[in-house]
Amino acid sequence: MNRSYKSTLIPTLIALSLGAPSVWAADQELNLYSARHYKTDEALYKGFSDATGIKINRIEGKEDELFERIKREGAASPADVFITVDAARLQAADEAGLFAPVKSTLLEQRIPAQFRAHDLQWFGFSYRARVIAYNKQTIQPEQVATYLDLAKPAFKGKICVRSGNHPYNLTLLASIINHQGAEQAAQWASGIVSNLARAPKGGDTDQMRAIAAGECDLALTNHYYYARLAASDKAEDKALIETVGIIFPDQQTQGTHVNISGGGMLKHAPHKDAAVKFMEYLASDAAQAYFANGNNEWPVVAGMKIDNPQLEALGSFKIDPLNASNLAKEIPLAQRLMDKAGWK
Ligand code: FE
Repeated sequence: MNRSYKSTLIPTLIALSLGAPSVWAADQELNLYSARHYKTDEALYKGFSDATGIKINRIEGKEDELFERIKREGAASPADVFITVDAARLQAADEAGLFAPVKSTLLEQRIPAQFRAHDLQWFGFSYRARVIAYNKQTIQPEQVATYLDLAKPAFKGKICVRSGNHPYNLTLLASIINHQGAEQAAQWASGIVSNLARAPKGGDTDQMRAIAAGECDLALTNHYYYARLAASDKAEDKALIETVGIIFPDQQTQGTHVNISGGGMLKHAPHKDAAVKFMEYLASDAAQAYFANGNNEWPVVAGMKIDNPQLEALGSFKIDPLNASNLAKEIPLAQRLMDKAGWK
């Protein structure tokens, strides 16, 4: 960690030579506001404290609650880093002026431009694919090679999906706006609504359970929910995996839509040095391996070795190269199109 060496040592030397007060001393703690609720993240944070001696005070909450809390706390906020899922949420935090840019050669080198904000206000550390889940007995994968295929009249009454207000679906619609334009995107959202087997409810896993129960034949899900079920020992989940398969859409066109889990350093962070170190740690080999092996997400850093049979079983696929900032930009329009389509 060359940079952290530099970023702590130089201010310390300046402080010593000027006889400045302890404000220059290296940070001993970090206040992390996290909307990631994965039990296994414990190991991730411990890795950082072990490596740096910096203690992490973790505040957990729902994405929108933490966002509101940071806004409310304003300049007095103790938050150093805000970690959440979804590019649109990160962009919203950016637009609300919560983040400060992090100029780190290490982050810029390790995190591909696709997975970070143009203005370096936030960075993605892992990515997830939005895939199509289908009933292997009733659907041929060729019938749903693209997201747009899901809106075909042939699938009337066959689709289960979570709310259109959920960021996972909003960001997918934002990618369709980017690639196919607003008009096609509007038609697609309406097409999905007319193909619904039931009113939107539950999370992604619930939609796959509904396919297994015969309520519908097709659904949208993030890939890690499928990987989690594939790793389960429960008879019910094993039966589900027998029935339900997944498709990476748009392999012949723009590629499968991916979203990120990521974070940024807060503008009023009291421990900015620790915040940069923490973000650099999240891009380290050890932390990147954790995202893949502990939570079935793909590391953003290229060439990482993965030790996760469920993730490896999904194989490699063509990723939609759209930049996360471009996706986030279309969210307000995506929300309007969802409302218009009645995808509640
Ligand atoms: Fe999720």
